[in-house]
Amino acid sequence: NIQEQQEMQIPRYVRVNTVRTSTDEVMTWFSENGFKLQRRKRDIVDSIQMASGTFSVDEHIPNVLVFPPGTDLHDNILYKEGKIILQDKASCFPAFVLNPPAGSDVMDACAAPGNKTSHLAAIMDNKGQIFAFDISEKRISTMKKLLHRAGEKIVETKHHDFLKTDPSDPVYTNVQYILVDPSCSGSGMINRLDYVTSDIDNMDAKEKQRVYSLARFQVKVLSHALSFPNVKKVVYSTCSLHSIENEVVVMKCLEKFHEKFELKKALPDWPHRGHAVFPEASNCVRASPKEGSTSGFFLALFEARNSTGTVEV
Ligand code: SAM
Repeated sequence: NIQEQQEMQIPRYVRVNTVRTSTDEVMTWFSENGFKLQRRKRDIVDSIQMASGTFSVDEHIPNVLVFPPGTDLHDNILYKEGKIILQDKASCFPAFVLNPPAGSDVMDACAAPGNKTSHLAAIMDNKGQIFAFDISEKRISTMKKLLHRAGEKIVETKHHDFLKTDPSDPVYTNVQYILVDPSCSGSGMINRLDYVTSDIDNMDAKEKQRVYSLARFQVKVLSHALSFPNVKKVVYSTCSLHSIENEVVVMKCLEKFHEKFELKKALPDWPHRGHAVFPEASNCVRASPKEGSTSGFFLALFEARNSTGTVEV
């Protein structure tokens, strides 16, 4: 089947949940349980070449392991114990790029089912506070289960429309880091690549309308995040391949907020960059099965102009 074939294109990525265990411990477990650690040659980025029963350490994102495409770990004991999270590599980019220090106040604007929230908590060493919003009650309940299994203690889940949060609410005064991963067309999701074209001109009218309406929503959510008074770093991400939902959203928000924010080069060593929709678009990151062996993904990093990169907490 097409979905299976496409899932076979990219490796199975595993994020070690450092709240519960360490990467060394997980690597030892796999080595003792029938998997052989393989050193990855720098030029072999195409993990389709990985032999079955092997694994390696990801070269870009800490605490991410790489297994051959099709490796099924859903019944794995480490997964059941919340020690590993089955999360695509590109979906680990946002929390890694936002990189909030332990003890900080963070917002995850569109958080459920919570993979990126859980990654944020791990990066923060489970210290500080994360306000995790989602408008869907069902997805919030899935998120609570995921966060419980992962041992996360610093997340306050909020079943609430992020757009209705008040940036002047004193509760959010110390928020300096916001992750914005809003609803998108999902055109980069691996099981959808067969029927969604990234070329907006080839879309039928209904799908085109859906993408434009999502893009309007995305501009609103990102603008709202950029309106919080003390925010220093905002990461915007989607799993869409459409520029309309990616570079164009970033360009519009940058036009609106350019006095306060600049677009920083995210993941400087990552070779696949934003499409040249506006001059600084190469500061953004793109990923796909062909561009880095991940599912389709986009990311942009906004930083407050007066931000020194250091944070008082
Ligand atoms: N960040 C999540 C993760 O990594 O697990 C995935 C987020 S998903 C792409 C987008 C989420 O935004 C959905 O769960 C959706 O319910 C939520 N959402 C949509 N509109 C929202 C709003 N106005 N306020 C808060 N959440 C919203």
